[in-house]
Amino acid sequence: MNIDHTTASYYAQRALVYAQTLALNPRGSATQAEKQAAEYTLNKLKSMGIEDAKLEPFIGLRSIWLFIALASGFALVGHAAFWLLRGPAGDYPALLVSLLAFGLSGFMLWRKFTFRDYPLRNSLPHGQSQNVVAVIPPTGVVKHRVVLVSHLDSHRAVFWFATNILVILFAILSIVTIYGVYLAMVLYSLTILTQVQFFAWLGLVLALFHFLGWFTGVTADLGRYSPGANDNASGVGTILALAERMRREPLQNTEIWLAFTGCEESGCDGMLSLIKAHGGSLKEAIFIDLEMVGIGDGIRYIQDEGNLKRNHIAKDVEAIVQEAGEPFGINPASTPPVGAFTEGGTLWEHGYKAVCLSAQYKNTPILPEWHRLTDTPDRLKVEALERIHSLVLALLRRLDQ
Ligand SMILES: [Zn+2]
Repeated sequence: MNIDHTTASYYAQRALVYAQTLALNPRGSATQAEKQAAEYTLNKLKSMGIEDAKLEPFIGLRSIWLFIALASGFALVGHAAFWLLRGPAGDYPALLVSLLAFGLSGFMLWRKFTFRDYPLRNSLPHGQSQNVVAVIPPTGVVKHRVVLVSHLDSHRAVFWFATNILVILFAILSIVTIYGVYLAMVLYSLTILTQVQFFAWLGLVLALFHFLGWFTGVTADLGRYSPGANDNASGVGTILALAERMRREPLQNTEIWLAFTGCEESGCDGMLSLIKAHGGSLKEAIFIDLEMVGIGDGIRYIQDEGNLKRNHIAKDVEAIVQEAGEPFGINPASTPPVGAFTEGGTLWEHGYKAVCLSAQYKNTPILPEWHRLTDTPDRLKVEALERIHSLVLALLRRLDQ
C-alpha cells in the first residue's frame, strides 16, 4: 500500500498517535512524568533525523496553586492585621501592617502574572524541568524564523475545572479574589480615614474570597493531575507531525524552531527559560503557540489576554493569521480577565511576536476538557487535528514568502 505523505489527514493521524501516547500518563509540572514526555518527544525528533534536538534543563515551579496559597495567605494576614490590631495597637499602626501585607500579596501577584521574578519565589517548591528544542533549517538562506510552541506538562485536575458551571464560577471568583487584594487596601484605608465602618465590612467580605483562594491553593495538589490529552498533548502531537512534514517539505527561507516546554501550567517557567537561553536569536521570530488543539469544530486565536495587565496580538501578526485562517473560519478570542494565561501572552509581555491558536466549539467559550480528569486520549478528534495542521502549514508557507 502506498502512503500519501502530502495530505493533512495523514499528518493528523500521526499527531493523534503522538498525542494519545503522551496522554497515557498525566504530566505534572517538574515531575518525572513530564521528563519522560520530554524524552519521548526528543526521541521522536531524533528518529525523524533531527539530530541536534536537545533537552534544555531548568528549575521550574511545581504548582501554581502553592503560589496562590502564599499570595492569598498574605492577603489573609492583611485582613487579620486590620481586624485584630486596631484595638491593641490603634488605627494607623493596624492599617500600616495591613497595607504592608496586602501590598506584598499584590506585588507578588503582579510580578507573577507579568511573568517576572517575585518575592519569596524560592520559598515555593521547585523542581527539575526541561524544554525540548530543535531547529529545522530551510533549503535556502535564513530570512525568517518561526517558533512552534507547545507545552508538555498537564495541570492538576482541581475541582474548579470539573464542570462548565464551576469553570464560570472560577472565572468570576478569581476576578474578585485577585482584584480584591488591591480593593481591600482602599476599603480599609477609607475606613480609617472616614471612620465609616461600612467600608470595613466590605473588606471583610473580600476576606471570604481570600480564604477560598488560600484553601484552594493549599488543597489543590492533593488531587490527581489531568491526563492532558487536549491540554496539551494535542499541541505537542501536532507539532511533532508538522516536524515530520517539514523534514519532507522544508520551507525555502524560514528556519523553523520547535519548542516543547515544561512548567507552562505553573506559570510558563519553560517559556521564560527559553527566552533567557535563545531570546537574542529569536527577537524577530514569530511564535506560534498551540494550546488545546484536539477537540472542537472551530479554531480561535487569542486577540488579548493577561491577568491584571492586558496585552494584545501585534497588528501585523493578526493580519497574517486572519488571512491564513480565513478558509478555516478562524475567530478572535479573549481570555478571561483573571484565571488563564498562555505562553503566547508570556511572549507578548516580554516583547516578542506571537499568536496562540486553539481548537474550540463554535457555540461556547468553554475550553474543551480544560484541566479535567476526563481530558483523556479517546476524546481527541482527528478532524480537529487535521484543521489545525492545515492552518499552521498555511501560516508557515505564508510566512515563508
Ligand atoms: Zn495548556
